[in-house]
Amino acid sequence: MPFFLYLVLWIMNKESLNNEYDIIIVGAGPAGCCVAKFLSNEYNILMIDRSRLPRDRSCGGLMVEEAQDFIKDWKLPKSVFSYPKYLDLKMIDWNNDLEIDIKKKLWNVSRKDFDYWLLKKSQNDVQFSFETKFLQFEKKRKNIEILLEINNKRKVIKTKYLIGANGPFSNIRNSLVKKPMRHYVAAQYWLKHKNIYNSAYFIYDNEITDFYSWIIQKKDNLILGSALEKDSNIKNKMRILRNKFKKKFNITGNVFKKEFAILSRPENKKDIFLGNDKIFLVGESAGFISPSTGEGISFAMRSGYNCAKALNENFEKPFSLYKEFSENLINEIKRKIDKSNALSDPEKRVEMFK
Ligand SMILES: Cc1cc2nc3c(=O)[nH]c(=O)nc-3n(C[C@H](O)[C@H](O)[C@H](O)COP(=O)(O)OP(=O)(O)OC[C@H]3O[C@@H](n4cnc5c(N)ncnc54)[C@H](O)[C@@H]3O)c2cc1C
Repeated sequence: MPFFLYLVLWIMNKESLNNEYDIIIVGAGPAGCCVAKFLSNEYNILMIDRSRLPRDRSCGGLMVEEAQDFIKDWKLPKSVFSYPKYLDLKMIDWNNDLEIDIKKKLWNVSRKDFDYWLLKKSQNDVQFSFETKFLQFEKKRKNIEILLEINNKRKVIKTKYLIGANGPFSNIRNSLVKKPMRHYVAAQYWLKHKNIYNSAYFIYDNEITDFYSWIIQKKDNLILGSALEKDSNIKNKMRILRNKFKKKFNITGNVFKKEFAILSRPENKKDIFLGNDKIFLVGESAGFISPSTGEGISFAMRSGYNCAKALNENFEKPFSLYKEFSENLINEIKRKIDKSNALSDPEKRVEMFK
């Protein structure tokens, strides 16, 4: 990335914070960036993230059709793609010894570069503050008081609307919803691998998990990943999985990086929680993520857009509009819950592989 862009972002990040904003967005992932991008620039907006961007985010970096469609006119630069740029998809069922090719082209991106590119697409008038951690909020009669931590110092700022775009472990969601969502641990092991796979592999094997495991080529590296039940013995499961990869694909090589991250898997409609009149949740914080594939980028961007649209159309009473705009996404998740229940069960899976 050109040096001057770093400089611009550094300067933007050094601006001192106001005491009050119209809208504060917590989280600069795809959900938060899309809220920022689509909000009208007549609002006074602050977007914060606890990390310094560009930052890594454990992810397969696969973009499905819905995500591709959403950004089709935005000219995604070549530098954001990994190699191979596009991947076919093969689904393999090791319990039933079945394999199918899915006629879909997935975009294969570097997640770090994608999120940074999206951040730069956010509109100019948004103020950013990185390495700024959201701690808690308190609802007052006319506004919301937000407690932030910057450089080990605490600061209180007021806002009319608070947008929780802070991913699977959102402390904003957790302070509003009692029942936690089902979470998995997504483990990704990176190893060097010269023979290029032009397909991503989604592997179903109930000895490993009732979700699925994957192989994704990233330049001359491979990601071997799996979404594992939280209370399972993660390292042992990954050891079994690696042995199977070695036997069935002859994938050997030294692992040079291990990542463990939390992945939400909504079980029913109630897991989608949009917030309330002044506090909106978007992206994975709201539960917008596919329970069948763990695909969350398209849901994050689309829910971010819906949230911004609701605030633009009716700043006084946007929440009912946000609910209305979210209906399609919620129905999409509902359909995927049915699909994921079938995919989790080896007997029902046979039907899906026909
Ligand atoms: C291993 C793995 C592989 C995946 N692979 C894919 C894939 O191939 N394709 C796909 O579409 N999806 C994939 N997903 C899911 C996808 O990554 C998420 O659903 C998506 O990133 C959600 O976007 P978001 O903007 O809602 O949240 P995030 O991308 O999680 O962004 C949240 C942001 O909030 C910040 N934040 C968190 N807490 C605070 C706080 N207290 N204060 C300030 N900032 C905070 C974080 O630093 C982060 O930048 C994968 C997930 C995992 C774990």
